[in-house]
Amino acid sequence: MSEMRDKPETIVVGSGRMSASHFGTVNTPVYRTSTILFPDIASMAPGKQPYSYGRRGTPTSQSLEQAIGELEGGAQVVLVPSGLNAVTTAILSVIASGDHMLVTDSVYGPTRQFCDTTLKRLGVETTYYAPGADIAPLLKPNTKIVFCESPGSLTFEIQDIPAIAGIAHAHGASVLLDNTWATPLLFDAHGHGVDLSIQAGTKYLGGHADVNIGYVSANQAHAARLKETHGNMGLNASGDDCFLALRGLRTLAVRLKRHQETALALTDWLAKRPEVTRILYPARPDDPGHAIWKRDFKGASGLFGFELKPVSDTALAAFVDGMRHFGIGYSWGGFESLILPSHIHRTAGSFEAKGPVVRIHAGLEDAGDLMADLEQGFLRLNGTQ
Ligand SMILES: *Cc1c(COP(=O)(O)O)cnc(C)c1O
Repeated sequence: MSEMRDKPETIVVGSGRMSASHFGTVNTPVYRTSTILFPDIASMAPGKQPYSYGRRGTPTSQSLEQAIGELEGGAQVVLVPSGLNAVTTAILSVIASGDHMLVTDSVYGPTRQFCDTTLKRLGVETTYYAPGADIAPLLKPNTKIVFCESPGSLTFEIQDIPAIAGIAHAHGASVLLDNTWATPLLFDAHGHGVDLSIQAGTKYLGGHADVNIGYVSANQAHAARLKETHGNMGLNASGDDCFLALRGLRTLAVRLKRHQETALALTDWLAKRPEVTRILYPARPDDPGHAIWKRDFKGASGLFGFELKPVSDTALAAFVDGMRHFGIGYSWGGFESLILPSHIHRTAGSFEAKGPVVRIHAGLEDAGDLMADLEQGFLRLNGTQ
């Protein structure tokens, strides 16, 4: 990479394009293949031919890998079929039987499930730490991973990643970060000391609710083991999915700006509602994580939470059901708005909330239309016991 690094807005547009080898087409086409033919036996020697077998990569997957590598500051990248697989592949590339991991208590639920079942069976011990807690006293001689997510799933606590990385590295542990909320555009994971950065490309990278894909990017010290683990487990992402992710990537910067703008407008509006007791969104000045967010992040995405005053389950359902623009469903990061009551699970402490916590993904619709929809929801809520 040259010393004149392009801005992320430019990288997402220009990176990973292979027009010269594809008759000038702007986008690398979808290569659907298992077998790749060799002209002769001599060409089968390692490195003689750029592509050797579908699982091991095609021009389509290589285009996406190159683009992401550039966005992640020159890191090595592997593509996998889902965000959750990016989590498990990153962990398995570092951990061994008998090791110990520290994992944030605000972690994505299925990540916790993997630690508590599969990793436990393989002889790996997990300790959950409250987001914001000092991790130094929790480190054990066999602690090999500190697994962070910032902001946390459902509750949006910001963590001091450079401070955590300093402590973990002094101890010889690797720092893994699920950076799905921010994407590499809004938080430079490797630049802040993260060894393995994880992205559920299903969310903002794809951006259109039509693909499950994930990636892990590694700094130099972690690249070989990541590539080995990825290869040994037979992982790849399909040509069609890589194409969709690349297509999403081209508009990522402009979409994120709009998601942030609408989330800020919606949270400002919600903060003034008598039914709302708290907003969970680090881009707001009154958020406990705001100072660190401002120091480390370049912006906020469109996913946030808020706490309602205590209401009955029926009243909560009346609020959420019947929205015109907000869909009820898992995942987020697509063009469309979503709403979902949050089920918060904690073991290192408790998440204090008197009323229900609701999560919103602010989509690309008009903010005023979204507010009108929420206003109707509050009318339904207030009209229900
Ligand atoms: C959605 C999500 C994942 C998992 O992505 P999938 O593609 O659904 O497997 C991982 N981490 C976070 C923070 C997520 O929000």
